[in-house]
Amino acid sequence: MSAGFLLVLSGPSGSGKGTVSQGLMKENDKIVFSTSVTTRTPRPGEVNGDNYFFTTIEEFEEMVKKDELLEYAFVHTNYYGTPKKFVFDEIKKGEIVLLEIDVQGALQIKKRYKEAVFIFLLPPTMSELKNRLKKRDTETEEEINTRYRNAFRELDFVGEYDYFVVNNEVKKAVEDIENIIAAERLRVKRHKNIKEQMLSERSEI
Ligand code: 5GP
Repeated sequence: MSAGFLLVLSGPSGSGKGTVSQGLMKENDKIVFSTSVTTRTPRPGEVNGDNYFFTTIEEFEEMVKKDELLEYAFVHTNYYGTPKKFVFDEIKKGEIVLLEIDVQGALQIKKRYKEAVFIFLLPPTMSELKNRLKKRDTETEEEINTRYRNAFRELDFVGEYDYFVVNNEVKKAVEDIENIIAAERLRVKRHKNIKEQMLSERSEI
């Protein structure tokens, strides 16, 4: 069985993390999505337990107190966090667990989990990012501006990531990530007993 690991995908709002994640999951049944907890109100069409677990600030703080979150951060104007138990259960089963989280959360993971893989998703250009944010029609103008300003701050952290993928075309971005996963699966450090496995088959010629 191949070893499971954490795959952290970050990128500014509007870079297309959601669409790329969905494309990845559709094509790969060994990738499972970690559903985050958030205090943000659901957007039209969002389903509790599917897109996010929507909670109150009190419930969120309770989870923090009980140490139930792997990481959490205040992003834009709300809290977001990753439930710990699901992630560990799935990794134990050998799955690749996809975390679609912001840079603050990614940095927390980086400090604690050396085996995690970090990918930063970029838009083709920053003006294209602005167009995408405006086109989404899911946020107010003020929210769009906050997200656009934050995008430049997030870019400061691209150097902390292992890989970057440009999302010009979703299909190509998904393929790039699949190639990263394929290479990461072959890292010697993820197969600690590879030598023993080969030696166990040794016999006289
Ligand atoms: P949105 O409100 O557009 O769904 O997400 C806003 C931002 O929060 C995105 O950058 C998204 O990646 C990030 N985010 C979503 N879930 C989590 C999480 O569990 N932890 C952290 N740190 N960020 C998250």
